[in-house]
Amino acid sequence: MSEVKKYDICIIGGGITGTALGYFLCKLGKTSVAIFEKSYLSSGSTGRCAGGIRQQWSTRPNVRLAMRSVKLFERFKEDVGMDIEYKQGGYLVLSYIEEEAEQFEKNVKMQREEGLNVEILTPKQVSERYPYINTEGLVMATFCQTDGHANPHKAVIGYAQAIRRMGGHIYTYTEVKNIDVANGKVIGIDTTAGYFACDIVVNASGPWSNEVSKLVGVDLMTESYRHQILVTEPLENFFPMMAISFSGNFYMRQTLHGQFIMGQGDKDEKPGLNFNVTYKFEKELASKMVKIFPFLKNVRIIRHWSGMYNMSPDAQPIIGASEKVKGYYYAVGYSGHGFMVAPAVGEALAELIVFGKTLHTDISYLDIKRFEGQVLEREKNVV
Ligand SMILES: Cc1cc2nc3c(=O)[nH]c(=O)nc-3n(C[C@H](O)[C@H](O)[C@H](O)COP(=O)(O)OP(=O)(O)OC[C@H]3O[C@@H](n4cnc5c(N)ncnc54)[C@H](O)[C@@H]3O)c2cc1C
Repeated sequence: MSEVKKYDICIIGGGITGTALGYFLCKLGKTSVAIFEKSYLSSGSTGRCAGGIRQQWSTRPNVRLAMRSVKLFERFKEDVGMDIEYKQGGYLVLSYIEEEAEQFEKNVKMQREEGLNVEILTPKQVSERYPYINTEGLVMATFCQTDGHANPHKAVIGYAQAIRRMGGHIYTYTEVKNIDVANGKVIGIDTTAGYFACDIVVNASGPWSNEVSKLVGVDLMTESYRHQILVTEPLENFFPMMAISFSGNFYMRQTLHGQFIMGQGDKDEKPGLNFNVTYKFEKELASKMVKIFPFLKNVRIIRHWSGMYNMSPDAQPIIGASEKVKGYYYAVGYSGHGFMVAPAVGEALAELIVFGKTLHTDISYLDIKRFEGQVLEREKNVV
């Protein structure tokens, strides 16, 4: 009979969350770790996302988490050993309604208290600085130079290579079918590559988070919603920042190779896994973006795809350890910002697993217990 394979920690999901966590666990000396990915690395939301990295949030803990992530992105090449096309070209946040602009003023006050350098710009200042943006209808904007963007595929590959170098294991095209629990404690997982014994399982399965969690009978209350996104043919590189608007419902950035990546949300989207794309999205987004960014006129769309936002009830991630099943952890429900916070989350969750407490960033406010009868503070800065 062959011996049962054993790891201390098994991570379900080879996106940015799973690989960042695997990396920080290995760095803390926990190299008996394996990631199980049912498809290829970054095949989930991570490989479909826009790669934006923003610190301008409406809640103080999110600002802190994002600021820590930026510190880690700044050192990514040096620490992890991969150039991930990280560019701190800033985030220009555009507001088209008075009420939102008032909220932005409050956000900026709080962000500055946290040490973030954020500017408030009038429409005139936006026109002067970015003459290629049509500011019609704009009420105000904020700008933070240290925000930016990176290539999500490269970030996952960078973490994965570092994990392997440090002795961790990654199983691709290997689906976790069951989580084995005995006496209220995780003891192993069943996969398409066989059974693996383990003490800890981390659910980093993104859009599939609640489905996976049901394997241990824990309802994480997450739901997944389709988000569509497109990319244009390349233009000369001149657009350094990510432009985003919550009231205008769009975001856009230019890649290193000159293409423009852009998307918008759809409030009529129903929960469920749906990777189809619609002509309605292209038509609506293209006509809106050409008005705001007239240089896009006659620029061809070369590709259009969809991915999933895994949503929690307050649009903030759910991260922590289960009280019901010992050894079961989760890092899910990121809404549209799981890429940017992943380094800080990976670091904090690794510390929580290894030391029983976080050392760099407090993530206790993201525990699932916050849904027990409290008034929730919903994150407002999401598209
Ligand atoms: C269109 C779009 C644009 C976005 N833009 C941004 C942005 O600009 N900035 C930002 O920060 N975030 C953005 N996001 C959100 C971001 O993509 C996600 O929050 C983030 O990628 C989540 O990473 P993850 O590793 O948790 O999940 P995923 O990347 O989805 O990884 C989960 C993995 O788990 C695997 N899996 C699931 N079930 C199993 C199983 N049973 N066994 C084995 N493997 C399993 C899946 O195959 C998948 O690869 C965007 C999302 C979309 C859809």
